[in-house]
Amino acid sequence: MRRLEGKTAVITGCNRGIGKAILERLASEGTDIIACTRTITEDLKQEYASISNTNNVDIHPIILDMSSEESVRSAAKEISTLKKPIHTLVNNAGIASFNGLTRTNMVDLKNLFQVNYFSVVLFSQLLLMPLIKAKGASIINIASVAALDAPVGNVSYGASKAALITMSKSISKELASSGIRVNCIAPGYIDTDMNNSISSSFQSSVNQNITLKRLGLTDEVANTVLFLASDEASYITGQTIRVDGGL
Ligand code: NDP
Repeated sequence: MRRLEGKTAVITGCNRGIGKAILERLASEGTDIIACTRTITEDLKQEYASISNTNNVDIHPIILDMSSEESVRSAAKEISTLKKPIHTLVNNAGIASFNGLTRTNMVDLKNLFQVNYFSVVLFSQLLLMPLIKAKGASIINIASVAALDAPVGNVSYGASKAALITMSKSISKELASSGIRVNCIAPGYIDTDMNNSISSSFQSSVNQNITLKRLGLTDEVANTVLFLASDEASYITGQTIRVDGGL
């Protein structure tokens, strides 16, 4: 028996990187997926069709731009019209920016918080009814070790993820009586486009500081999402789990 058979998951930012690995991992365990992405290309539709066929699950693409409140509201409305209980909500979509105080620009700061924090709050709020209907849902927010360790240059990114962690712990208490568990994953350096801009010299110094001496794989984050979504994590809520190879 697959671990998420017959369930439905909503995942944001699942066209590439960590989000796509989460989509593939959860689909392999039998859950239908409402895949929320900024754009839906023909190639993406074909990829989803292939994952859907291989795993015998439904993948329903929906347009969602987290930088726009209107888009968040319209995506949530479209999801509600499907009238499905939502067992798993993975708030994965996010953007990064690594500036210190002197280089922080207010327009960029507000946009980053819109994508990484405000829209996550609104989307979760608007999906509350289908989450309650699932009678045992799990919300998983993808934060970052930058929120916990606060390295230099995290006036916007690390701070937005810290807000996400605090919000998650707080709502875990608010939503427990509705049968909803809420947890965060704090990845370290994962091998995705987000880290492509890191220079090779910085990357080798990063690798030296990681106990396991390598970047993480997207599947290693996806496996932790699967664990938190499954009944195996039935007594875990309000937590932040680091997936960082030892930092
Ligand atoms: P990528 O840059 O590879 O992917 C980011 C995803 O977010 C893409 O699907 C992207 O869509 C989507 N996205 C960005 N902006 C928006 C938006 N306005 N509306 C909707 N979707 C959007 O990053 P990762 O896969 O590495 O990151 C996934 C999550 O993991 C993020 O929240 C990130 O902060 C977090 N994380 C990543 C780490 C890493 O080392 N990689 C470390 C710690 C945390 P599109 O293709 O349209 O741009």
